[in-house]
Amino acid sequence: MPKAIVVGAGIGGIATAIRLSAKGYDVSVFEANSYAGGKLHSKKVDGYRFDLGPSLFTMPHFVDELFRLHQKNPVDHFQYIRKEVLCNYFWDDGVKFSAKANKEDFIDDASRVFNEPSENIKNYLLRSKKKYDLTASLFLEKSLHKLGTYISRETLKAIFQIGKLDIGQSLNTSNKNTFKNDKLVQLFNRYATYNGSSPYQTPGIMSMIPHLEMHYGTFFPKGGMHQITESLVELAKNVGVNFYFNEAVERIVVANNKAGGIESINGNYDADVVVSNMDIYPTFKKLLSRERQPKKVLVQERSSSALIFYWGISKNFKELDLHNIFFSGDYEKEFEHIFKKKSLYQDPTVYINITSKEEPKDAPAGHENWFVMINAPGNYGQDWESLKNQSRKNIISKLNKILNIDIEKYIVSEFILDPKGIESSTSSYRGALYGAASNSKFAAFLRHPNFSRSIENLYFCGGSVHPGGGIPLCLLSAKIVDDLIPEA
Ligand code: FAD
Repeated sequence: MPKAIVVGAGIGGIATAIRLSAKGYDVSVFEANSYAGGKLHSKKVDGYRFDLGPSLFTMPHFVDELFRLHQKNPVDHFQYIRKEVLCNYFWDDGVKFSAKANKEDFIDDASRVFNEPSENIKNYLLRSKKKYDLTASLFLEKSLHKLGTYISRETLKAIFQIGKLDIGQSLNTSNKNTFKNDKLVQLFNRYATYNGSSPYQTPGIMSMIPHLEMHYGTFFPKGGMHQITESLVELAKNVGVNFYFNEAVERIVVANNKAGGIESINGNYDADVVVSNMDIYPTFKKLLSRERQPKKVLVQERSSSALIFYWGISKNFKELDLHNIFFSGDYEKEFEHIFKKKSLYQDPTVYINITSKEEPKDAPAGHENWFVMINAPGNYGQDWESLKNQSRKNIISKLNKILNIDIEKYIVSEFILDPKGIESSTSSYRGALYGAASNSKFAAFLRHPNFSRSIENLYFCGGSVHPGGGIPLCLLSAKIVDDLIPEA
């Protein structure tokens, strides 16, 4: 049986291992940490359970597919519910908006709350669908770096309708040209953060993301986001994948331009195929330091990172749901701080995720588990202690004002994760959440391919390579790698 080695047990690595095992490979996954999941991990503290990283789950069928590959019924192993409310939005001036997943309800409510002609919203969502339909199979589902991808009907269709893709203007400009109401512009600008980019720089094509939420829905896995990792690791082990935890890989062994295995902290292992799920930057700088470096890929701007406060809160808040956003009064300044000044704005947009709304056992009775996140620049050696202290004050004062409460009184448990911590616990360069930023119209083409052009039998998956970051795209990267690797 041919051997495959996967470096890293992030979601992309686990999915690749499951796929290669179905293909007939003997698969081993080497993971530096004592646990699987990378960013998709959870922690229990003082009676509260927190998902540490991702909180929004879309396109669950990509997870289901992995169970079906091994002739298993997904619902026997992994379950999730569809959310009717996408997100509750709050502004400093008291405006609130509960965004429904049902498109018609969303349009009616948004038109009323923002005094926006419903036709504007309807047409925007139709264009959002069109952009997705035209580009998904080209940009997301195949390798962008193989000629075959371009010789297809779908590609020709996308090229002929390129004007409809809004590549030439920023998401913010596209939204401003559509909506009269500034709050609605801000709401739709927020979708740039789904891949760690700035709405003032990322191209208008990103307006396809709301279509994903409204058409495919948003979900919550029973037991929390970490169940995605747990159930897939269980599946992987079940089908014979070997996991080596606490075993960091130090080098990918290359001889005669062929990958032939790895050197870990504990020894050497041979393989016919090596797949790196480690961030592409350290993969080249550390594991492939003797090989030619893909300079253009490695100098790309990284996506935003995050500063997260995990709070045990001794109160229930009826006005809050699973996903809640408290918007900054000056969104443009906030992104200028994140991407240009590499700092944090004094009035940040605050995202609060509360899984105990769906899973009461995630917090003691009468309490809630708050994951309080602000978008942050990558780790460039800033003074994170002082930024954390200042941001904590800014966040609390914003929440006190909007929720009309003294929130500090209810914080009974706390720990904090900053970009430096994200970088050290996952090896993600600069603590980027989504690999490279999509702040340019060429970003999709500048991500590293899922294979090596110069080294045979070497492949790459996960959020720092094509097609990009976020759980669904990491799962798609595994699918593309699977398509590229020959049958065993
Ligand atoms: P990673 O999670 O980056 O894991 C890589 C793994 O490789 C790690 O376990 C690491 O320890 C291991 N590794 C690294 N180097 C080595 C080595 N030398 N040897 C062995 N192992 C090694 N996505 C969403 O879809 N929805 C969200 O709501 C969302 N929110 C997010 C919020 C936060 C705070 C964060 C941090 C991320 C968020 N994301 C979200 C992004 C999402 O988490 C990532 O895109 C995805 O989990 C990345 O998976 P990956 O396969 O690239 O691996």
